[in-house]
Amino acid sequence: MENYIAENLKNVRARIAAAAQRSGRDASEITLIAVSKTKPVPMLLSAYGLGERSFGENKVQELCAKFPELPADIKWHMIGHLQTNKVRQVVGRAALIHSLDNLRLAAAIQKEAEKQDTVCQVLLEVNVAGEESKYGLSLDQAEPFAREMSKFDRIRVCGLMTVAPFTEAPEKNRKYFRQIKQLAVDIRAKNIDNIGMEILSMGMTGDYEVAIEEGATMVRVGTGIFGERVYH
Ligand SMILES: *Cc1c(COP(=O)(O)O)cnc(C)c1O
Repeated sequence: MENYIAENLKNVRARIAAAAQRSGRDASEITLIAVSKTKPVPMLLSAYGLGERSFGENKVQELCAKFPELPADIKWHMIGHLQTNKVRQVVGRAALIHSLDNLRLAAAIQKEAEKQDTVCQVLLEVNVAGEESKYGLSLDQAEPFAREMSKFDRIRVCGLMTVAPFTEAPEKNRKYFRQIKQLAVDIRAKNIDNIGMEILSMGMTGDYEVAIEEGATMVRVGTGIFGERVYH
């Protein structure tokens, strides 16, 4: 297993570096998030031993279960849909919440961050292709929503996140990644108080190289590192 993950990681890191180079960027600008959902702790420890420090989970319960089992210098990323009643467990554990897309959730995060006397770092999730099945703000809603977020002093918006459509042909998602990048540039140009656009979380196993070519600063790779997931 150790070897399997080592090989995969080597491959993913090389492809990240190559994609960065193709687009005239430095690979150090891109953070690889090892998406470890459904995978057991020993697999995460293998990736940790190989230098990974950023892990992504999409379920609060699973994140909370793994959190105490792994070294404290790991940065946990909450990449899945978040319900307001689970916010208490995530604030203080997750280094970054990638999935903020509604005011009720923002209010819950603000309240919990006040209680914990902290500031919560988040990304605004954008449903770039307008898919019915996906969470996230529409492209049109993102800027007005960012303006609303500006009033929440315990929430720091650091950028945008998107889950592009599933496709076997990554080139098909290029236009979506480009739209997210442009949206970030447009929002940044508005200089909204307390709203940063330095992080673009986009690209998964099937399309992370295209995402990097279009400006991703975080890629979320699960299958490419840990192998296929089996859901029971
Ligand atoms: C599962 C998941 C990923 C990783 O998907 P892979 O195709 O396995 O790389 C990335 N982002 C989100 C939001 C996910 O839920």
